[in-house]
Amino acid sequence: MNIPDLLRTLPSVDRLLHLPAVSALAGTHGRERVTAAIRSLIADERQRILHEGSGAIAEDRWPAMIAERLEREARPALRRVVNCSGVIAHTNLGRALLAPEAARAAMEAGAANVNLEYDLTLGERGDRDALVEALLERVTGAPAATVVNNNAAAVLLALNSLAEGREVIVSRGELIEIGGSFRLPEIMAKSGCALREVGTTNRTHLVDYERAINERTGLILRAHTSNYRVIGFTAAPEPRELAALARARGLPLAVDLGSGTLIDLRPFGLPREPTVQETLAEGADVVTFSGDKLLGGPQAGVIVGSAPWLAKIKKNHLRRALRTDKMTLAALEATLRLYENPEAAIRAIPTLRHLTRPVGEIREVAQRAAAILREAMPEADITLLDDVARAGAGSLPEVDIPSVSVAIKSPALSPGGLAAWFRGLQTPIIGRVENDLFRLDMRCVDDPESVRPRT
Ligand SMILES: *Cc1c(COP(=O)(O)O)cnc(C)c1O
Repeated sequence: MNIPDLLRTLPSVDRLLHLPAVSALAGTHGRERVTAAIRSLIADERQRILHEGSGAIAEDRWPAMIAERLEREARPALRRVVNCSGVIAHTNLGRALLAPEAARAAMEAGAANVNLEYDLTLGERGDRDALVEALLERVTGAPAATVVNNNAAAVLLALNSLAEGREVIVSRGELIEIGGSFRLPEIMAKSGCALREVGTTNRTHLVDYERAINERTGLILRAHTSNYRVIGFTAAPEPRELAALARARGLPLAVDLGSGTLIDLRPFGLPREPTVQETLAEGADVVTFSGDKLLGGPQAGVIVGSAPWLAKIKKNHLRRALRTDKMTLAALEATLRLYENPEAAIRAIPTLRHLTRPVGEIREVAQRAAAILREAMPEADITLLDDVARAGAGSLPEVDIPSVSVAIKSPALSPGGLAAWFRGLQTPIIGRVENDLFRLDMRCVDDPESVRPRT
């Protein structure tokens, strides 16, 4: 057959629309979506015919093809994935998983009217901060608090409120860039403050801060270096000394903690991380931290500190542009409530549970996961591998957290090909390729069934 004859074997849109199996699809997907799917499938088929010089597929195969296309298009863009990356709070995979209590609170707040800014006693307008302020005070010891969209917003708001048009003193060792384009010098410029760098990359002394203070100084900032570490010949003033200097000069001392953990994780074999409570006790006036890093809550930026400085921050009109929604506040409140019992919080908050999980337990899950995968992929070579996980999101930088992975070798697919195949599953499974070996890290997998591949 010549090309025009081959193209004539293509059915018309109308003909396909009237096939009973296709018109049934219009009930679920709507006639317009079905018509659009048919048009695009016919266009694809036309291309195939021109390319391959063979006739159109048989009419009885069209309904299944149309249904498949419609289902693929109806899949949400934001989908659940299984995190086997070995990075616990993976920024690209949505960081912290909410505890069930927090997820439920967010869902209920989303679907209902709530007293977000409504004082139920007085029957008049209230303050959304009041919802979490008392709780934040109890778990951090801070006299005042506010919550914004994320920690980048918290830093921006704190700097703009306390030091706009003035100089902010920062150690050169703390001028950080965090993944996803959070750069302290840029945030500083956007907040209307002038950066005053002191010291060197590896060593900054109290006297460096002291000498930099002048009549234009508005604030002293300490920033957690999060995703990197300076090791070797280093120096920084004791937090208490710096706080005393700030106080003596009447300047606020702000500390950007980044992760902002509320629990000392050393009993779980992890290194010391300054907690929010300690940082406040050491004399910081304002402390900012993320809601969805080590805290294990929703994306949010928390600002805690002394009442007069917080009052200035709350009066800033910029806060209106950075405010959180009711679902975030609901999830944050529920998460913070779990911290009122720290031992229970470790088990209830997935981020903390995954971070502190004993390797023996991970190995058990890995064994069961390997059995499931061997059954599903009989041709593959599947073994357990002692591996190393990370906290992620700039938390606990460079800290090796022992873990167990399921390593997979396939006769047909390269390591990169295997990674792509797992990403293409109905519920994508995100592993990683390291040393030319594809592996699924089990530290964040609670139920081995979640790695059963479904195409
Ligand atoms: C992660 C981080 C931020 C940004 O926090 P987000 O909640 O991601 O906006 C700011 N400062 C430090 C030190 C961080 O580690």
